[in-house]
Amino acid sequence: MSPVGALFDRILVANRGEVALRVIRTAREMGIETVAIYSQADADSLPVRMADHRVCIGPAPSVHSYLSVPNIIGAARNSGAQAIHPGYGFLAENADFARACAEEGIVFIGPSPEAIERMGNKAAARSSVAQAGVPTVPGSDGPVKTAAEALAFAERVGFPVLIKASAGGGGKGMRIAESADVLEARFTAAKTEAAAAFGDDTVYLEKYLTRPRHIEFQVLADTHGNAIHLFERDCSIQRRHQKLIEEAPSSALSPEMREAMGAAAVSLVRAMGYENAGTVEFLLDGDGSFYFMEMNTRIQVEHPVTEQICGIDIVREQIRIAAGLKMQPAKQSEVELRGHAIEFRINAEDPANAFRPSPGTVEAFNPSGGPGVRVDSHLYSGYQVPPYYDSLLAKLVVWGPSRQDALARAKRALGEFVVTGIKTTVPFHQRVLETEAFGRGEAYTDFVDTEMGDV
Ligand code: ADP
Repeated sequence: MSPVGALFDRILVANRGEVALRVIRTAREMGIETVAIYSQADADSLPVRMADHRVCIGPAPSVHSYLSVPNIIGAARNSGAQAIHPGYGFLAENADFARACAEEGIVFIGPSPEAIERMGNKAAARSSVAQAGVPTVPGSDGPVKTAAEALAFAERVGFPVLIKASAGGGGKGMRIAESADVLEARFTAAKTEAAAAFGDDTVYLEKYLTRPRHIEFQVLADTHGNAIHLFERDCSIQRRHQKLIEEAPSSALSPEMREAMGAAAVSLVRAMGYENAGTVEFLLDGDGSFYFMEMNTRIQVEHPVTEQICGIDIVREQIRIAAGLKMQPAKQSEVELRGHAIEFRINAEDPANAFRPSPGTVEAFNPSGGPGVRVDSHLYSGYQVPPYYDSLLAKLVVWGPSRQDALARAKRALGEFVVTGIKTTVPFHQRVLETEAFGRGEAYTDFVDTEMGDV
């Protein structure tokens, strides 16, 4: 292990695709060597080529490779890595993995296993958050075991209600019940889906807010007692509760609301003794009330939006914090919000065909460029998109001095973006940009259903 207060010499990146490349790039800028791990399906991938060292950790299915704790720890040990960056997804929010790293004397670049555990169970997280004085959506106190209990809760807070998996993620195990007639069926469906997706059928209930916005705050905290936020991201453009477009700042927040929500996020971080980067997610109701929804104890897909408006490399700060260094900047007053950024998730999915996955061979890849454009992607011409993993191919992030400038740049950059051979979500984003509602900055979590018709 490297001495406290010194940076690592070599880190292992326990992920694949664009996020693996994202981490490798920052590590290289910091003078840190990287070890890429890969499954047999990813041998020809860009992060594997770009890293300083590489280790095959198993066959294509993630359970035997990217989710295999012993294989990854073994790779770190054999390659002499002092720390592991987990990226997002896979083992990024797995407390046992963070613990296994610590037992091997390897630094996990993220929060403590206890913090991961506390926030990983959504029902349990709600109660710690309420204790920190942060408002939560009216919900059941803990798991709801039977349909009769669910009905009693719904009658108390009023329909509609949302049934959510405690172990949930990615919009799975979530069902809305509009009335008592459908409650039992939706309750059973949520439980069945949760059991299949997470091996845990525990569910709880929340009041379902109609037309809220999804507003999340990026937070950073170091081991020297500093805790700050890097403003918000508005992630209201979603399809089936999955984010597609994210932007910062949000058109919905006044400076006072930004300050109040940011202060709530930081107070939660302080109350938990949280360290490293995280995201506190809120729902913002039409009347300006905001409620805690969940905390992600890792870097998120949409973090570049924040990097573009703050000029801070969040992965760099994650690495510095994990090494015991003071983060830069360390004080809220040193963080400045500049301009406007929007991210478009370019997935291997066919928007004309119910967003069906579209793996295959990329014939040509010519990403957009020019002023204010950032593309984070592991694609190259001739790359074969494997069918085993998530469908994210690229993140197109535009920055402009104002929202109007960012929108004009987004139209230009999406028009330039070329991926042939497979279907992508580029045409969907172009359609969103044509809607007047998006142009006016109106985005609600049901936007895609109401404004985009049958997609
Ligand atoms: P996951 O972890 O599965 O992504 P989240 O708890 O982050 O689930 O919620 C995902 C999305 O579901 C939110 O962005 C929002 O659109 C919707 N949602 C969650 N809770 C509520 C609620 N109480 N009322 C209305 N919409 C909600």
